[in-house]
Amino acid sequence: MSENLRFRRVVLKLSGEVFGGGSIGVDPDVVAGIAAQIAEAIRSGVQIAVVIGGGNFFRGAELQKRGMERSRADYMGMLGTVMNCLALQDFLEKEGVDTRVQTAITMAQVAEAYIPRRAMRHLEKGRVVIFGAGAGMPYFSTDTVSAQRALEIKADAVLMSKNGVDAVYTADPRTNPDAVRLETVTFEEALQRRLQIVDQAAFSLCQENKLPMLVFGAEDTDSIRRALSGEKIGTWITS
Ligand code: UDP
Repeated sequence: MSENLRFRRVVLKLSGEVFGGGSIGVDPDVVAGIAAQIAEAIRSGVQIAVVIGGGNFFRGAELQKRGMERSRADYMGMLGTVMNCLALQDFLEKEGVDTRVQTAITMAQVAEAYIPRRAMRHLEKGRVVIFGAGAGMPYFSTDTVSAQRALEIKADAVLMSKNGVDAVYTADPRTNPDAVRLETVTFEEALQRRLQIVDQAAFSLCQENKLPMLVFGAEDTDSIRRALSGEKIGTWITS
């Protein structure tokens, strides 16, 4: 991928952990910072849809280990993502950015239902669309949903922000000192090496449909804006 790509439309995945600023719940200062970066990028003309995780509240697999039934725990995880969506909507509107939340589980009082064609109309009008409640189905992750939404709304790329790492490495650099940073990598290699940074299902969807994926660190104060603006950051994964 060349430097300073100009995207027409992208899906940005934000992990729930980022929203919590390291703890359970939402850290308003962190969300305000993310909203300011998205607002800056949208003023440059790129169409932005956001998928937010819920790991700052619940992860189904973790609750299952502690005795809960998996599907019910996954629904709790999905509901957690919606709280993050509302927090981001609030701070985006404070930035003067028109925003719509669409959820895969209908909850008419707080959000629109997920209607892809409507989402695309919002994007064309310069609104940020925030997708909540994952796919509305247990046993899925929001990484996979980001790839699916990007394909369905015909985005140019899916931008995956991650906590604790700034790019794709051959192994987890936090635990393995021999981990080597990869500047670019193919989906095939990512799948073969069983790289854990993004779900394998998300890699497969992108590979089959030739959708480029950027993996980058969310912690720098400016990294989300840089990724959205097509600046050189993180690792591109391509077919
Ligand atoms: N989840 C789900 N189906 C989906 C998306 C999410 O069941 O389509 C649940 C699942 O339990 C997951 C939780 O919601 O652990 C939070 O999402 P995720 O773990 O992807 O959030 P992140 O790690 O990105 O914060």
